[in-house]
Amino acid sequence: MEGTNGPVQREPPLSVKSMDFTKKLMVRTGTRVRLSHADPDGTLGFEKNAETKKLTIKAVERLDALQSLLYAENKRALLILLQGMDAAGKDGTIRHVMSGVNPQGCRVTAFKVPSHDEAEHDFLWRAHLATPERGQIGIFNRSYYEDVLVTRVHKLVPETVWKKRYGQINTFEDLLAENGVTILKFFLHISKDEQKKRLQERLEDPRHQWKFSPADFAERKFWDDYIEAYDDALTKCSTPAAPWYVVPANHKWFRNLAISRIIAQTLEGFQMKYPKPPFDLSQYKIK
Ligand code: AMP
Ligand code: MG
Repeated sequence: MEGTNGPVQREPPLSVKSMDFTKKLMVRTGTRVRLSHADPDGTLGFEKNAETKKLTIKAVERLDALQSLLYAENKRALLILLQGMDAAGKDGTIRHVMSGVNPQGCRVTAFKVPSHDEAEHDFLWRAHLATPERGQIGIFNRSYYEDVLVTRVHKLVPETVWKKRYGQINTFEDLLAENGVTILKFFLHISKDEQKKRLQERLEDPRHQWKFSPADFAERKFWDDYIEAYDDALTKCSTPAAPWYVVPANHKWFRNLAISRIIAQTLEGFQMKYPKPPFDLSQYKIK
């Protein structure tokens, strides 16, 4: 079949037409993150129009083809990790960005309050169990970062314990990276006003009411503490092996565009090829 062993790309990468989202949104190692200085309304100059919609659709379509290559090669895995305040759009991102991907090729894991069993282990145990196997895309809806966020904000463990976790997380992510797991970490950055709007919608719209949780309402009071905890986590744990991306997320269309482009660009960077068959196919005549 024509082209099956060549690189999957048949047209110029989207970044030619658009922008290098990876470069623009990545937190460089050593940079002190201050979310209060990052604009949650940002769109990097893009506007909501038919062209940007087309770019997003194309990126999502590319993800399907690239995931199929990832599976065929069976050499490496991709881990996509999503964090953000309540109503930041973690679920919506997963729904939109992964909409075209073969469900057999990805697994979503949501990290909730640890179960009894989980709480009896070290904080990375449940995450390690959920990491994607070779050929697969794993998506973490929240993650072990909760153990330096909610845990810190609500003083669920002593400071001496959570302070050590940044280093432990970096070591864990290095281990994954050195064993073939590429890690993309997205912080969905919304403003406090936007959260208010979205929580209000959950209160008022019968289609969203099921999502309203008194916990979200209570957590909003800790907004500033969460921002401080996020500033630290994003600063201390953006490493070359596992960088953080701060994605302006007040505009859902921009969030979806940026994240789908970064994932596609990362997979394209692998320069994957379909494996050559280990036998001479010409001897097989199917009758
Ligand atoms: P949701 O994402 O809305 O389903 O909520 C999940 C909840 O689980 C959030 O309030 C998280 O803060 C909480 N959660 C996740 N991981 C942990 C953890 N390690 N310790 C305590 N709470 C957690
Ligand atoms: Mg929630």
